[in-house]
Amino acid sequence: MESTVAQKLEAIHNLQLIDSRLDSIIKVRGALPEEVQDLEDEIAGYETRLEKFNNEIQSFEDEIKALKDSIKESEKLIKKYQEQQMNVRNNREYDAITKELELQDLEIQVAKKKIGEAGVRIDTKKHDLDELTEVMKDRQKDLDLKKDELSTIISESENEEAKLNADREKAVKKVEERLLKSYTKIRANAKNGLAVVMVKRGACGGCFNTVPPQRQADIREKKKLIVCEHCGRILAGVEDEIVEEPAPKRKRTARS
Ligand SMILES: [Zn+2]
Repeated sequence: MESTVAQKLEAIHNLQLIDSRLDSIIKVRGALPEEVQDLEDEIAGYETRLEKFNNEIQSFEDEIKALKDSIKESEKLIKKYQEQQMNVRNNREYDAITKELELQDLEIQVAKKKIGEAGVRIDTKKHDLDELTEVMKDRQKDLDLKKDELSTIISESENEEAKLNADREKAVKKVEERLLKSYTKIRANAKNGLAVVMVKRGACGGCFNTVPPQRQADIREKKKLIVCEHCGRILAGVEDEIVEEPAPKRKRTARS
């Protein structure tokens, strides 16, 4: 059975009231969910950098180890050459070995210099690593606080939110698909999340532009769906002066 315009309007207005309440619950959480997400991303970035620092330190330590091995190798060769030098048969052989000895000595010096440099790099990296670890600890503290705050806020509203979501599921079923589509679209584009509004004091409840009296009369009749000429919101009815829509709670004042 095809529903009347009045029924359609009632269904979509009901959905709007549920969504507005859900919006205000989300709004109480403010920027917290985003802040928590940002901090989590930031900390993940630090962890990646810390891992990189540790890898770099490790590779410098590997380098030092290789250099120390090559020094030992050179020292062995030097010992060997020194023994050979005792048993040379002529000056030419003696000079050749002397050259080898000088070469190994030079190798040792170069290796020692490189070890020193790698050591300095390790110290610098370790310093960076300590600094970053401190920053990360601070951020982690911030994150823990914000997470606590958020979970408190969520737990305060979670029952209501669950009920509203259940209500919403039922309410959505009563709205025709095409109407639901336009509703979703209008809502997404509206800053205040309002797609269905009442005419209040002669003005659109969404954009506050005046609705002409004849149009108001048409809206009251509910013979067809009428949208605001200015903002395109669905006008669900005309509110009588005295009736006030319950204003959704906006601020996080209830908590202490
Ligand atoms: Zn409007």
